[in-house]
Amino acid sequence: MTYGPPEPWRIKTVETISLVPESKRPDILTAAKFNVFLIKSEDIFIDLLTDSGTSAMSSEQWAAIMRGDEAYAYARSFMRLRDTVSSITGFKHFLPTHQGRAAEHLLFGTILKPGMIVPSNNHFDTTRGNIESLGTEAMDLVIEEGRDPQNLHPFKGNMDTEKLDHLLTEKGDLVPIVMLTVTNNTGGGQPVSLENIRAVSAVCRKHHKPLFFDACRYAENAWFIKKREPGQENRSIREITREMFSLVDGCTMSAKKDGLVNIGGFLAGNDDSLFEALQNQLILKEGFITYGGMAGRDLEALAVGLDEALDEAYLQYRIGQVRDFGEMIKAVGVPILEPTGGHAVYVDARSMLPHIPQSQLPAQALTVMLYLRGAIRGVEIGSVMFGEHAAMELVRLAVPRRVYTYNHLAFVAEALERINREKDRIPGFEITYQQKHLRHFTAHFKPLSPLP
Ligand SMILES: *Cc1c(COP(=O)(O)O)cnc(C)c1O
Repeated sequence: MTYGPPEPWRIKTVETISLVPESKRPDILTAAKFNVFLIKSEDIFIDLLTDSGTSAMSSEQWAAIMRGDEAYAYARSFMRLRDTVSSITGFKHFLPTHQGRAAEHLLFGTILKPGMIVPSNNHFDTTRGNIESLGTEAMDLVIEEGRDPQNLHPFKGNMDTEKLDHLLTEKGDLVPIVMLTVTNNTGGGQPVSLENIRAVSAVCRKHHKPLFFDACRYAENAWFIKKREPGQENRSIREITREMFSLVDGCTMSAKKDGLVNIGGFLAGNDDSLFEALQNQLILKEGFITYGGMAGRDLEALAVGLDEALDEAYLQYRIGQVRDFGEMIKAVGVPILEPTGGHAVYVDARSMLPHIPQSQLPAQALTVMLYLRGAIRGVEIGSVMFGEHAAMELVRLAVPRRVYTYNHLAFVAEALERINREKDRIPGFEITYQQKHLRHFTAHFKPLSPLP
């Protein structure tokens, strides 16, 4: 087994988890309509559904919770967070929101009109949902290497700048903003290089278009830049992140990722008139401009978390643990998307289960098997989530920050080994119920033949 660097923390509080007997799991799956989003958390042993809002907070963050200032307007906690965001990003304006999609909703609701187009490397599901629900097109312009699960390109999250330039030349009038997701969650948590950010920024500036980061995992992205990009290895993470943000005009952020908190988000940027309009919408939809949808204590914990996520010992452990988790899975003969990304290992269900055609949802089948064999919860990132936009059939095993040990992850690799031995008997699935937007959260499924 692979062991990376020792955890740069020690454990102060523990939460008991227990393993539901295998004999009870088929009934639990049936009751949840074979959708792992609908399984009770107490029935899950290792929960790799998401790294969003699932981080363990530090003792410093819990201390910050007690320092939270709950004043309605201009609380101390707001000013502290505003100053932290400004020191990291350099942006002039900052607006707190209750999570990332609220920031997306405010931004897109303010600037988009039906028929417009918003390009990104890959839009994440909530971003795509927010854009499409406004009658607007969410366009993915990731480089070709980013669509190939086995391609070892070091920055598979990069955007194809030629395609972007072409789009802005041909249809620039329809494009009010360009987004860049760092790291590229949908494409496998893959980073975007500093060189690519510079190039995308230059194309946007040439066409006078604002460029925003979907910045959820900007710190993890910066770590990959430091480790993989020639000439960056001697720069500090803070220098790299500062340059990243200097190349864009603003960002939406889900603080539930690299903010190391359980809830929170924000919008930041430089455009005075845009932020005036956003302030108006924030007051209507989320709350006053100094708390958005957050409590004072949450603002305070986020201010601490943003700094902790830029700590290099933390990032080295974090990215190393995810990489080693990928190695454990490869060692049992299960194909994964390579190289491993920052926050998750993505199992390549299409190559693991070639007998299940894409129309029969191979990644959904593997998600169900992981629960059946290990009471493990992962998430389908394929045809269920993205319909006809699905480029790959992946099961994402997201690693919460500072939560699970190497032994927990070895348990998951062992369950995958068992599933791999019986893979020929795993059936395809069909959808029996779905909603119009973001159907994966609530859809119901049925196996096309009995489970092994
Ligand atoms: C999580 C996520 C979002 C949405 O953030 P929430 O806080 O869950 O609303 C948007 N974009 C990306 C890339 C994400 O990973």
